[in-house]
Amino acid sequence: MRAEIIAVGTELLLGQIVNTNAQYLSRSLAELGVDVYYQTVVGDNKERLKQAIGIARDRADLLVFTGGLGPTLDDLTRDALAEFLGLGIELHEPTMAKIMEMFANRGGAFVESNRRQALLVEGATPLRNDTGLAVGNALNVDGTCYLLLPGPPREMKPMFDNDGTGWLKEQLGPALMLHSVMLKFAGIGESGLEDLLIDLIRDQQDPTIAPYAKEGEVAIRVSTKATDSEEASRKLEGVLTEIRGRTVAYLYAEEDIPIEAAIVRLLSEKQQTLTLAESCTGGMVSELITTIPGSAVVFLGGIVTYSNQMKMQQVGVPAELLEGDGAPGAISSETAAAMAEGMRLAADSDFALSITGNAGPAAAEDKPVGLVYVGLAERERETRVEKLQLSGDREGIRLRATKRALYMLWL
Ligand code: ATP
Ligand code: MG
Repeated sequence: MRAEIIAVGTELLLGQIVNTNAQYLSRSLAELGVDVYYQTVVGDNKERLKQAIGIARDRADLLVFTGGLGPTLDDLTRDALAEFLGLGIELHEPTMAKIMEMFANRGGAFVESNRRQALLVEGATPLRNDTGLAVGNALNVDGTCYLLLPGPPREMKPMFDNDGTGWLKEQLGPALMLHSVMLKFAGIGESGLEDLLIDLIRDQQDPTIAPYAKEGEVAIRVSTKATDSEEASRKLEGVLTEIRGRTVAYLYAEEDIPIEAAIVRLLSEKQQTLTLAESCTGGMVSELITTIPGSAVVFLGGIVTYSNQMKMQQVGVPAELLEGDGAPGAISSETAAAMAEGMRLAADSDFALSITGNAGPAAAEDKPVGLVYVGLAERERETRVEKLQLSGDREGIRLRATKRALYMLWL
């Protein structure tokens, strides 16, 4: 099935809002095994909307609309499609009842234009809207499928995920659906990972292997089309086993979760605690850890020891490491180790991570931009320090240092 997404709204054309609906729908449709060939954006104008429908119908079998189902006069999607198909408009009684009830509860007078949100293109299947009023429409006319979804993402997403997907699956029949497994890696770059898997990636057919890199993490999606998840598992198993074998040191999850979530889970399972002493990352590790629900059980806290003085006062880095000719300096393996050890002892945590480095843009202490030391002090093991030479701009270096530091806990 070839699909086209038609996002309706003059706000989109004016650049006032971003077309996140198209992204969401493209990704969801890909997961259903539906190929999206085009994304169109058209303003709130009935003639141009009808033109867009005509073009799309000639090149796709599924047209997914978002926007223009609301109560106002510029909400034209339903009318344009009905006119284009030569169909009438009918009232969906349950939605109308819901709208009347809402007005009764609110105690306000009924506003007639709201009736529009209960209208369907003649013969369309209604799609439930649990987070808003406008009813969605689904119809199949001469083999072309039309899905009409509301514009607000908080209404569009649940409608598509529930009734929309259900209806689409009925239209697709027992067709092949895309099944995929996301593998997440840390401590290795995109090219390094590709190197390890180059022959698999080059010779791939089914399953397919697609690498992704984002925000200091690397991921691979392994996918295949199958009628059910058992068949999919069987088809995916061989490749997954091969990839696991080659990447054991870097693979931290087989689902799309960030490294900080994997670390919080790991420490929770082991009932171990973590503290942080951060310099060049300025609290970024703390920030990422505390985005994860349940981090309170494992994360005791962290200190940003940005200046030399704070490094000495707060985590007990000896002055001779930081001051005087020939001292290793703040950006050094010795200081990273001292920060981690000082932090761990002060808080009596099982682990303490430290980060000190130069995130740029200028050299500091004669140390190059991107030079970062990450230290890990542990109750049970000797302190380790990793020296990193990271590339990128200031934010990129800080983020990669953060992810690498978290990865040290994984090992
Ligand atoms: P409403 O009942 O709110 O009028 P609607 O179905 O008529 O809903 P629109 O009027 O086109 O939809 O858009 C309403 C709001 O939904 C927009 O102001 C915008 O915030 C959001 N929205 C619309 N289209 C998109 C899109 N393609 N991507 C992301 N957000 C969107
Ligand atoms: Mg609207």
